Amino acid sequence: MIQDIYPHKLNNQYDLKAVPSPNSPVLVFDGPKVLADTNGWFRIPSAEEVGMDKELVFLFRLDDTAYFLARSFKDEIPGYKFTDVRAIRDLEDAEKHHKFAIMTGKHLSDWYRDFTFCGRCGNRMNKSEKERAMVCPECGNTAYPRIMPAVIVGVINGERILITRYRKGYQHNALVAGFTEIGETLEETVAREVMEETGVRVKNIKYYKSQPWGMASDLLAGFFCEVDGSTEIKMDENELQYAEWVKREDVVLQPGRNSLTNEMMMAFKDGRKDLV
Ligand SMILES: [Zn+2]
Repeated sequence: MIQDIYPHKLNNQYDLKAVPSPNSPVLVFDGPKVLADTNGWFRIPSAEEVGMDKELVFLFRLDDTAYFLARSFKDEIPGYKFTDVRAIRDLEDAEKHHKFAIMTGKHLSDWYRDFTFCGRCGNRMNKSEKERAMVCPECGNTAYPRIMPAVIVGVINGERILITRYRKGYQHNALVAGFTEIGETLEETVAREVMEETGVRVKNIKYYKSQPWGMASDLLAGFFCEVDGSTEIKMDENELQYAEWVKREDVVLQPGRNSLTNEMMMAFKDGRKDLV
């Protein structure tokens, strides 16, 4: 999965004292795109290339290297171009630890962008001088990084699993997935999402693994469960274009090996019997 980058390590402890050096890597985002050189190899600009006079915000360390975010920077730099983060996810020339750094940087960048102004009183927020937080100087509102929990669900029916494909966006095989609603447990999200998307009731809900998914500010929790009663599928046609029971050996995996969804489909395809 994208976060499995051993022997590399992402250390996202906030470092108040970190200052960029000319060689520090800098992430620059414009909506869903990141400024990168993808021309046969993969690199992102340095602090010197972005400009040492720009506002560079400490993000995290990848091994010993501190990464910074250039906020409010939208210029082109020769040799680099804005490239969709989703395209970089499947780019073979980019090493996984670099891709994971970009996805994590995207999550932090989106959070900084969305908390430029106070949601309580509308004033401009400042970076906290104590921790990773945005603080409103007017009303004192303190906003910490936001993570949205969501579930990925492998629904098992004997030797078959429920495979879906979304109507919009990612066009490869997927599993039932959805965001947790306020007031809901993860297990309740599992049961509700499977019912909403496919009309199937489930039992024996069992946790599998989790995955940070910064492209969508998510923390994904993967669960397997079994169909309970009728196996008839009533697909939500607004959300899905495909939902079918697929035999283990017929499961077609995603092209990349980055997602929790793909790992869960692979675990079932490989014949694991301990998933529920
Ligand atoms: Zn405020």
